[in-house]
Amino acid sequence: MKAWKVTNERSVELVDMGAQPVAENCVKLKMLTALVDTHESSLYKKGGNSLPLIAGRQGVGMVTEVGANVTAFKRGDKVFIRPVSPCGKCSNCKNGRKSECEHSYVYGKTEDGVLRDFITVPQTDLILLPQQVDETEGVFIEQVALAVETLDRLKIEKGEHIVILGATLAGLIIAQAAIYYQAVPILVDLREDRLALAEKLGIYYTINAVETDPVKKVFSITCGKMAETMVYTLLSGMTVRRSFENLVRGGRVAFVGFDDMEADLSADLMPALGKELVIYMVSSAGDNYYSAVNMLVSSAVDVKSLVSSRIEFDKIGQAIAEVADNEKKYIALLVDATKI
Ligand SMILES: [Zn+2]
Repeated sequence: MKAWKVTNERSVELVDMGAQPVAENCVKLKMLTALVDTHESSLYKKGGNSLPLIAGRQGVGMVTEVGANVTAFKRGDKVFIRPVSPCGKCSNCKNGRKSECEHSYVYGKTEDGVLRDFITVPQTDLILLPQQVDETEGVFIEQVALAVETLDRLKIEKGEHIVILGATLAGLIIAQAAIYYQAVPILVDLREDRLALAEKLGIYYTINAVETDPVKKVFSITCGKMAETMVYTLLSGMTVRRSFENLVRGGRVAFVGFDDMEADLSADLMPALGKELVIYMVSSAGDNYYSAVNMLVSSAVDVKSLVSSRIEFDKIGQAIAEVADNEKKYIALLVDATKI
């Protein structure tokens, strides 16, 4: 088995792991697709105590072998590897609040990740992809689940306006999901190509913040009422400053992203206080993986159009270094792991 291992700060190597036995509750997968994003680039840039570690958080594989006790999966099944799993032992887990587990294990962060040709994983970490969802779509399950978690936390209602700062991967998925929830997304970004893509995906209100003052435009779109909700996505490259002006009094805001992303979240919270805004911080997909599968089956979100570039397995090391130098370059960088 081959794997991309971060061995040291700014050092990633393709290593041979030899043959891996399949334990009785485990499943062996041939990896089909994976994403390279800030999870991998951050591990590469910052290193830390967990090194050496195989990189890779999000991936889809095909079952090639099952352990003696595995009955839920069979050869040929396509599965998404659940990136984050609760420990099952802490007080939050024992009291039924698994999403608040403080000792979660995370592929490519606390445990060896998925950037390998073959991987052996516990069957409890797998989510079966229905026939309608292929490996290119399935690899986005955590990203779609993050959008579901965001809209659930915001308690988005039909017909509400939701200002989304950043036509990032998260922003473009949340905007599409918002339409599915019958809310009205208003997507703001500085890059015209990203906004043009958003329009192709059916997001009918977009604002180029280089050319237009978003607050004035939101005023006009909402007929002077302003938006009930707002999402700030990390990697948007936009400032939080003045963004609270987009909202009504009592409005709800979510900051969405992962703690390994580089972003400047400094902001003056006085306007938020004045308007008594409710602020949520969303950095996990919660337990929304199966909702995400549903969203993909029903084509509520188009994730295939968000793939900026596809690379072969052999180019992963180079890609991780590239993303480390420019986190915002790609919307999504997809690894076709079958091409070795
Ligand atoms: Zn726990």
